[in-house]
Amino acid sequence: MELWFTERQTQDMAITCKVIKTHHVEKSEFQEISLLETKQFGRMLVLDHAIQTTIEDEFIYHEMITHVPLFTHPDPKKVAVIGGGDGGAIREALKHPGIEKAYLVEIDGRVVEVSREYLPEISCALDDERAEVLIEDGIKFIKEHKDEFDVIMVDSTDPVGPAVGLFTGDFYRNIFEALKEDGLFVAQTESPFYNKLLISQVFSEISSVFPITKLYLYSVPTYPSGLWSFTMGSKKYDPLKVPRDRIQKLDTRYYNDQIHYACFSLPEFVKKIIGQE
Ligand code: SAM
Repeated sequence: MELWFTERQTQDMAITCKVIKTHHVEKSEFQEISLLETKQFGRMLVLDHAIQTTIEDEFIYHEMITHVPLFTHPDPKKVAVIGGGDGGAIREALKHPGIEKAYLVEIDGRVVEVSREYLPEISCALDDERAEVLIEDGIKFIKEHKDEFDVIMVDSTDPVGPAVGLFTGDFYRNIFEALKEDGLFVAQTESPFYNKLLISQVFSEISSVFPITKLYLYSVPTYPSGLWSFTMGSKKYDPLKVPRDRIQKLDTRYYNDQIHYACFSLPEFVKKIIGQE
């Protein structure tokens, strides 16, 4: 018998993958966590029926959420990932030799445990001595820290449930306070095809808080529409003014010095969403 998993990406659109094995399904305090073995993408982490990451394409998202901001800052030492319980963003951040401390602030401890068990390729750096895993609400964590981080990466689920507050003006104002005077942050901001209103609102909120706000794009085959965005808010450093020789060659499969600048070149329809036609 063939088994297929379908994620309804919108009311009218779905992605379907052939499943070889269901490794794990549970209802945690916050969400349903599933770990599937798919034919096309290998092991796949699914939260509340939404694909989060897969062995085959995870490198794209995790490299782009980390290396773009970490090379934009000239000397990042202390960083935080909000969400990101699979550990992929921490793995990439710790490729930067200057990082002294990287917090992972994940609300759902079960996501971390399931990822440690079934996704060791992604979660492998969580035991690095520079990493510290905190199981708590990222909104509360950010509120309680002032003037502390060089870079913050918001690696969240879609804006539902506990992640709703990660897409608000209040949260971005608290992020501003949690960053040092030259700090910067990025947040995953969904699909320019399916989430135009959200992108436009988030961009406008972040622009009202940070002097430099930029949206950048990349493609992830398993995400709705394939085209996905991050938005960066920065107090001082402009990602497009990074000297090319700062971008050291790391062990990456997507990010490189050309992508660093090119990902900020936006199609006309995306410029329109953020009011920059
Ligand atoms: N790295 C993944 C990817 O490749 O797309 C995506 C996301 S990661 C699994 C998203 C995490 O954000 C989830 O594990 C979820 O529990 C967490 N999360 C949601 N709301 C949160 C909050 N308020 N504070 C901390 N973590 C939160």
